[in-house]
Amino acid sequence: MEKLIASISGIRGVVGEGLYPDTALKFSLAFGTYLRGGKVIVGRDTRITGEMMRGAVISGLLATGCEVTDIGIAPTPTVQYVVKETKADGGVVITASHNPIEWNALKFYRKGGILVDKKEGEKILQIYKRQEFKYIKWRDYKKLKEQPELVELHLNQVIKSVNVKKIKKMKFNIGVDSCNASGSYITPVLLEELGCKVEKIFAMPDGYFPHPPEPNKRNLKKTIEYVKKKKFDTTFVQDSDADRLAIIDENGNFLSEELTVALAVYHILKNFKKYKNKYKKKVVVNLSTSRVIDDIAREFNAKVYRTPVGEINVVKKLISVNGVIGGEGNGGVIFPEINFGRDSLTGIGLILELMADENKKISEIVKLFPQYFMIKDKIEIESRDQIPLFLQKIEKKFSDGRINKLDGIRVDYPDFWIHVRGSNTEPIIRIIIEAKSKKILRQVKNELSTIFK
Ligand code: MG
Repeated sequence: MEKLIASISGIRGVVGEGLYPDTALKFSLAFGTYLRGGKVIVGRDTRITGEMMRGAVISGLLATGCEVTDIGIAPTPTVQYVVKETKADGGVVITASHNPIEWNALKFYRKGGILVDKKEGEKILQIYKRQEFKYIKWRDYKKLKEQPELVELHLNQVIKSVNVKKIKKMKFNIGVDSCNASGSYITPVLLEELGCKVEKIFAMPDGYFPHPPEPNKRNLKKTIEYVKKKKFDTTFVQDSDADRLAIIDENGNFLSEELTVALAVYHILKNFKKYKNKYKKKVVVNLSTSRVIDDIAREFNAKVYRTPVGEINVVKKLISVNGVIGGEGNGGVIFPEINFGRDSLTGIGLILELMADENKKISEIVKLFPQYFMIKDKIEIESRDQIPLFLQKIEKKFSDGRINKLDGIRVDYPDFWIHVRGSNTEPIIRIIIEAKSKKILRQVKNELSTIFK
């Protein structure tokens, strides 16, 4: 079966079964046409198909008059930062992020290193579908630049943003699982610059992944088993394009990925003084993110804004309310001081600084937060047309809760909340339930399952 998803958020497919060089080429021609030439930064993750994609992408951009700088293997947030810092007009990241190795994809960024939004994405998709590419003549071609050293701009900015002296004093012992992907080079360097002793668990970029790249407990069995025997102060885990960050504590317990952004929010709000001249004491997270964010914000008198799921939605809100920190419960820390996107390296810097400030083990720090239990589930349905009906049924069943219909439906009760939304591209319904106890979680799950029978 051919697997290709062309949408307003770019293109994603299984290489050789839907995604081919010409698909990548045409999408890049569309992006180059949309940008009317201009300066573009290109980076990629370590997948074995990355080189093929790189060739196609660079061809498309050059043929439409872009001035292309290839920074090589680099995390998505690094490409975003380089776009911003070098005042480029756009960026392309060749990565299928947390999707399995057989997939690859293109993510498009505009000025400031910000993901293209719905409107921009629609325009690019239209150029792609109509094949209205604006080719330039041979004499207008620009020379391709290869500048892998530009990744240091991001590295240096993260280092500059934290108290290096204080972190160095702690002499942390850290494990790193970058899934042998984008974070493999830059993450150990960052940690060493911060005075940590580093063990690379999976940080050997050989084109293949040692486990599925989504950083959740199920996929990290090997890593968890390994670090249980080691005495790392913390183990950091990244997805394949290193925008998402998960944490394993000093005892080898996998912390919910929801806690990554919670730790960052706690640290920034606690030290808000440092940022108060530039930002408002406001936090932005998506509707699927844990309630622990509201608890932490309350403690520091900060306001929380909830947005539809999707990095661009959180980023746009952060910009419009001038919020100091935000992110997504999937391990995505967004800290405008460094980057307008999910950034695992920023997350690592902030969490190490927090550990140094508190002088506590990571497991002790998360004990400061109320505990919740969460289920993240997805249900395959026959067609996306069924989504509205399911949402109506949920609204009826949970009509006595506090309802938010900004993105699918979220219903809040004192002891639990649910968020149910349809995928924008596939016949899938995503369900998140969070509750104060496992018992309540089970009850709500059973109630919900009657709807999807
Ligand atoms: Mg990712």
